[in-house]
Amino acid sequence: MSTSAVRSAIVTGAASGIGRAIAVRLARDGFAVTVADLPTAGDAAQGVVDEIAAAAGTARAAAVDVSVQPEVEGMVAAHVDTFGGLDVMVANAGVAVTAPLLETTSDQWRRTMDVNLAGVFHCYQAAARHMVDAGTGGRLIGAASVAAHRGGIWQGAYSASKFGVRGLNQSVAQELAPHGITANVYSPGVVHTPMWESIDDAMTSRLGQPVGTAMQSMTQAIPLGRLETPSDVAGVVSFLASPDAGYLTGQSIVVDGGMWFS
Ligand code: NAD
Repeated sequence: MSTSAVRSAIVTGAASGIGRAIAVRLARDGFAVTVADLPTAGDAAQGVVDEIAAAAGTARAAAVDVSVQPEVEGMVAAHVDTFGGLDVMVANAGVAVTAPLLETTSDQWRRTMDVNLAGVFHCYQAAARHMVDAGTGGRLIGAASVAAHRGGIWQGAYSASKFGVRGLNQSVAQELAPHGITANVYSPGVVHTPMWESIDDAMTSRLGQPVGTAMQSMTQAIPLGRLETPSDVAGVVSFLASPDAGYLTGQSIVVDGGMWFS
């Protein structure tokens, strides 16, 4: 962790859903947070910053497309300039495509890989370059999914991208351990966010079922008996960023209410 007085974190995809909850939680834990998201989500990102500030936390917004490497490098440089270091990178931004193999377009395939997999690569690399140079260690944390452990129907592109995130994370964990940098991913199940609403829309319209039924049937498959909330995931990320997780690296922590055992 950095020697600067302020512990700080970047969270990507932080204007919505899981990323939003992570940014708020890390700020509550005492981190100064960069709330990073696409330029089109600028108002929502500023709303998260305002919420953190209203609770006496420290945050700033940043516009970034994680699929564009120079933008990610600029985001890390601006964060370090502002807060004097970087302790935790949460590469959370992601997109979901719900389409059968026979209908998945190459544009959908490429965008999924560019955001979900290359996006994590860009974030890990830019953060790690700073952490290695600073010699302070740090935490790399990425968004995987239960789909990183088991492919599901109509999830080929999404699942492939998330398996890739786990592979990247396992390699990085070994490479960067000598620098005191850990790398772990979190693997949520069915979290009620705009992303899962779009998955439900896609599934139910293909099946000719009422909106909401895909989410409902997934809920019945969750042993803990309820949909996951963004806060359920944020609590795990808070742990991964904490001193208590210092001896944990290369792992995928499945947080899904008991659906899948890793
Ligand atoms: P969401 O759609 O609610 O939020 C995703 C955020 O990422 C949005 O604010 C969006 O603007 C941002 N984003 C998208 N592309 C971006 C890009 N190129 N650059 C920067 N920001 C970008 O999704 P969510 O449900 O909160 O998912 C967050 C992460 O958790 C994703 O990586 C997702 O794959 C993963 N995940 C979600 C679930 C779930 O059930 N919701 C389950 C497993 C994994």
